[in-house]
Amino acid sequence: MNNYSWFAQISFKQRIWLFATVAGMFAIIVVGTLLGSSGESTEPIGFNIDMSIKDITPQLGVTNKALARELELPLNVSKKEPLGTLGVTYQELEHAIEHILSHRDNMLKYYVFTALVLGGLVYLIRLGRPDGADSKSRRNWYPRVPHIVSLLLSVVIAGFLLGKSPNPMEALVKVFKAMVGLYPDPGMKVIAFVFFILLAIIGNKMICGWACPFGALQELIYSLPILRKIKQKKLPFILTNTIRAGLFLAMLLFLFGIIGGREGFVIYHYINPFNLFNLDFESLSIWLTVIIVLGGSFIIFRPFCQFICPFGFVSWIAERFSIFRIRVDKDKCTQCGACIKVCPLEAAKGKVAGNKMPADCFSCGRCLNVCPIDAIRYKSVFKKDIKK
Ligand code: SF4
Ligand code: SF4
Repeated sequence: MNNYSWFAQISFKQRIWLFATVAGMFAIIVVGTLLGSSGESTEPIGFNIDMSIKDITPQLGVTNKALARELELPLNVSKKEPLGTLGVTYQELEHAIEHILSHRDNMLKYYVFTALVLGGLVYLIRLGRPDGADSKSRRNWYPRVPHIVSLLLSVVIAGFLLGKSPNPMEALVKVFKAMVGLYPDPGMKVIAFVFFILLAIIGNKMICGWACPFGALQELIYSLPILRKIKQKKLPFILTNTIRAGLFLAMLLFLFGIIGGREGFVIYHYINPFNLFNLDFESLSIWLTVIIVLGGSFIIFRPFCQFICPFGFVSWIAERFSIFRIRVDKDKCTQCGACIKVCPLEAAKGKVAGNKMPADCFSCGRCLNVCPIDAIRYKSVFKKDIKK
């Protein structure tokens, strides 16, 4: 791959697009910074175990039920009694409050996600392939560097710098938690989820492929040029998706108390790898999840996204509605398998075969410069010149 040669090949118009896009991304982040990085109060919380649940929750922005759940009390426990008399220790209360505060959204992250998705989308649609390029030079199209830079920015800024929340996975789970009364503002939780799913629909799973910090960290590890032979083995989508869907169903059954009889119990809480970005590992299971997933990422493409993430599952369903996506020209395609070989999942295989529900496509762009007869493009579903 030669990035200089790509830059040398792009047209004057594309260079204007490039500079306008970078300026646009920068402007979005500046606006986000000026509007204030956190939408919620950072006032210190005053609390002790002589206070009741009702005394504390207004400062936390959660419902009484949510604090009861965090303290591992029944959801219908008295909200007016001092916590000490309910058997809660100061340490337990402190830990519960810390955990609730760690879920507060840093509003600047919404702008960072928007900027990264915008950059990735313009790159895939307008910039990666030089205008008027001869397909003999296709190996120089879509250099990996812009994608790698986006993934690095995501890990550093949207991850370690700005903390774990918001993120796509929690945004989805919070909608269901709001349904069992754990948040006083369910409308806001729905808006946050709609934001993420829109970013997944405008460009096929772009929020996952270009901006989610934990997805990015896994992909960066996978992209290291080691163990290449093992990496070529792909996991069967039917297996990974069945496990992911099963976990999602189990989450709903536990959360609504259909299994376990404890409404508000969230299984993802015990395997939430986004805690890494707060350097806050509440339990051994979270440590193990992070270690196993990041270790597995050396040989498996995004194991957490493939096996576990509920947003990954829901956004896979939403891919049916995505506007910009990988499209294969069925009239041209000779089924040579070049794209299938470079795709880290079974996505290209499903697209070439014309499956209605192919595996997740993370819009990584790996397949866009390998087709010998130029039958693959990243484009809008409304463009008629390529058959689905
Ligand atoms: S599927 Fe992966 S990239 Fe998408 S939200 Fe989940 S962890 Fe992030
Ligand atoms: S290589 Fe696979 S995952 Fe990446 S854009 Fe192409 S079809 Fe999607």
